[in-house]
Amino acid sequence: MAVNKNTKERINKILKLLKENYADAATELRFSNPFELLIATILAAQCTDRQVNKVTPKLFSKYPGPEEMAALTPEELGEEIKSCGFYKTKSRNIINTCKILLAEYGGRVPEDMESLTKLPGVGRKTANVVLSNAFGKDAIAVDTHVFRVSNRLGLADAGNVLETEKQLMNNIPQEDWSDAHHWLIYHGRRVCHARKPDCMHCFLRELCKYYNNGQVPDNKDSRDMKGNKDTTDME
Ligand code: SF4
Repeated sequence: MAVNKNTKERINKILKLLKENYADAATELRFSNPFELLIATILAAQCTDRQVNKVTPKLFSKYPGPEEMAALTPEELGEEIKSCGFYKTKSRNIINTCKILLAEYGGRVPEDMESLTKLPGVGRKTANVVLSNAFGKDAIAVDTHVFRVSNRLGLADAGNVLETEKQLMNNIPQEDWSDAHHWLIYHGRRVCHARKPDCMHCFLRELCKYYNNGQVPDNKDSRDMKGNKDTTDME
């Protein structure tokens, strides 16, 4: 099968295999409502989901909603979320986001991309995570794993996140968007690592554009969404 062409047949085979292998794929962030997922996703920037999950149970039990969190100073919130990294910026963004939720949305998390991306600390990826996982909307959040794996596989052929998202939305049936986001993350974490992808044990090898072009990625080849060396293997 011509792997350089995004034939429907090739894409369907890739999606089928991903689905079979990662049937239980879901977000690893723990949350019990849209507000908690929004805050957890802001905290997850440049941090592992595992680390965020260590911080959020105590955080949400002490400050369960935007009202309680908006009342904190950046220093107070910073103490709670320090271990997630970039805590000064994250504290400011979370407090300002909570103030906007209270002032403009009655304390609720908005359910549309435009409103979400106006919140401090919320980019397109975070908004898509919230839309998909908290509100059940079809969305593909392109994080560093989705970007890397989809471009290696040839599900996309793009140099930036937005273009990758658009191409994935074109190439993947809409009903699979949200699941495909999780499948690609799982594959990136388990097999298609940033620095040393395990191509020899990859169930997608026969269908992978990179592999079949003799471009088995190595350290040099691994670039993240900003073109920097990708070091996400620990996530
Ligand atoms: S064959 Fe290698 S590069 Fe292609 S998806 Fe599998 S691990 Fe990644």
